[in-house]
Amino acid sequence: MKAQKYDVLVVGGGPAGIAAAIAAARRGRSTALLERYGCLGGGMTSSFVRPFLGSTANANIGKEIERRIRDAESICSPVEAAKIVLSEMTREAGVDVWLQTQAVSAKTVPGAAGCRIAEVLAVSHGEEYVFTADAYIDATGDGDLAAAAGADFRIGREGDGLVQPLSVMFTVEGIEPDTGFECCHEEDYRDLGDGREYLALCRKACESGELPAAVNIVRLYKTGRKGERMVNSTQMNHVFPLDPRALADAEYELRTQVRQVVRFLQNNVPGFADIRVNGSCTTTGVRESRRVTGDYVLTADDLFAGRRFNDAIVTDAHFCIDIHNPDGAGQAERDGYPYDPQPYEIPYRCLTVAGFDDLLTAGRCISGDHRAHASYRVMRICMAMGHAAGIAAALMSETGVPSREIDIRTVQDAVGIHKN
Ligand SMILES: Cc1cc2nc3c(=O)[nH]c(=O)nc-3n(C[C@H](O)[C@H](O)[C@H](O)COP(=O)(O)OP(=O)(O)OC[C@H]3O[C@@H](n4cnc5c(N)ncnc54)[C@H](O)[C@@H]3O)c2cc1C
Repeated sequence: MKAQKYDVLVVGGGPAGIAAAIAAARRGRSTALLERYGCLGGGMTSSFVRPFLGSTANANIGKEIERRIRDAESICSPVEAAKIVLSEMTREAGVDVWLQTQAVSAKTVPGAAGCRIAEVLAVSHGEEYVFTADAYIDATGDGDLAAAAGADFRIGREGDGLVQPLSVMFTVEGIEPDTGFECCHEEDYRDLGDGREYLALCRKACESGELPAAVNIVRLYKTGRKGERMVNSTQMNHVFPLDPRALADAEYELRTQVRQVVRFLQNNVPGFADIRVNGSCTTTGVRESRRVTGDYVLTADDLFAGRRFNDAIVTDAHFCIDIHNPDGAGQAERDGYPYDPQPYEIPYRCLTVAGFDDLLTAGRCISGDHRAHASYRVMRICMAMGHAAGIAAALMSETGVPSREIDIRTVQDAVGIHKN
């Protein structure tokens, strides 16, 4: 076993973890970032997710990441650009990136709030590594580290425990160059030019079996390259996202759905007759899994009320309550159309894991209910949380105090939030 000591340990190199690690390292703290896959990015690369959605008022590293990715798109596709930029930015900040390294367990000892993490065990290629740090951030999306340390968490919607469906995202090329057609969401009504409305056509194809039973919309986003679209469409319900056999079944089913969706586009959308798939996720996209219980649980009611918090670490967050139906096609609420909440805030207490002194979450595994999660899970909001978590972890290390005793004003100043 090889012992590794850092000021800050971030587990998970997705949008939240990258922003967190860069923020902590830029404050001069020795920072390790553990990522189980072979490249950084999480949903942004491995799950092939685009476009960047949501917005916040934070001044944050996420905006810098997005800007640099956009610049790099002059030489490659958006996902490839992210791989390059995320490697560069973590290196420039001085983050020690550990790729192909999975955190598997954590030991705890008694602490002021209940316990604190004494060490995290990670494995890579048959070797075990023991990490110790002053502050730990779980940015695994799935809440793996918090769960391994014994933290409380929730999965799925209240009532039946179902989570949002899994999807395989992919791109198609070969669309006739002068075809501008796209369709970005459930209320993006588009005429196909021959009297047919595209979303109505999708719904009809779902009913007739031309599209899979759970697919009644084929979202098509422009990628910046002529003749290419990002396709967000396939979906499989009733998959428990932490069960590896269920994930393999989902991978099989969703790859099969890709064929069906492409045939549908070829046969129905003018200009799409010669399309073919030119890229897809390397890991099936999981929208929702563990929501780790923090000192505060953000609710959909908070979002609808646009509730303000003195300890806000994200302000003016905005995105719809985007619940891909866990039990059928389309959206889960409002007869198939997502609700649009007020711009809202995320308090720091959603990141401080209940009962732990030195553990924060960032990204889609923070403390919230199923419906609030459906909004704050998008990449721009996750990166804003990650930046704030990185600053908070750096402060814990600098001052030697537990997560709840840091000076929240310092975090807020760093991300451009000014409260009276
Ligand atoms: C199909 C789909 C479509 C989506 N569409 C959009 C969209 O259009 N726009 C948008 O903005 N958002 C979209 N999202 C949401 C968004 O992609 C995610 O919610 C976001 O990526 C979450 O960021 P994160 O950093 O919290 O977690 P992730 O992106 O999930 O990153 C977590 C990282 O942690 C790593 N990890 C996990 N466990 C461990 C461990 N034990 N040890 C080491 N590493 C570990 C993972 O490999 C991963 O790299 C979509 C999501 C899906 C699944």
